[in-house]
Amino acid sequence: MPNTTPSHILSIIKMRCPNCRKGAMFTQKSIFPLKGLLMMPEHCSVCHQKMEIEPGFYYGTGYVSYALSVAMLAISFVSYHLIFGLSYKDNSFFYALGSSISIVLLLQPITMRLSRVLYLNMFVKFGKGSSLNS
Ligand SMILES: [Zn+2]
Repeated sequence: MPNTTPSHILSIIKMRCPNCRKGAMFTQKSIFPLKGLLMMPEHCSVCHQKMEIEPGFYYGTGYVSYALSVAMLAISFVSYHLIFGLSYKDNSFFYALGSSISIVLLLQPITMRLSRVLYLNMFVKFGKGSSLNS
């Protein structure tokens, strides 16, 4: 096994445990079936880091996914403007709004997972474990 430190950004994108950056954070590799979308192992399979640090830990992810959704909405709206152009003379504003909202809704399963990964990364530092030791 190579003894290199996996990149932080890459470990977030690959949804790995923040403590070792190797163990998978979700039981299912794919988001389908959606029923098992947020199923997580109790402990990391590599370093035994607890995945749910305290009861109800992931309630705070609502704020993270809200921020991610607003950012995605803004990005897709600006992208629409740059690609197709917006005008107040036709309905293009509503098309842009509709397509942006659709994109955000379609990406919601990934946003939910990513917000959990980011949230756990805020509390668990690489190689140090949780900062919420009880
Ligand atoms: Zn781990």
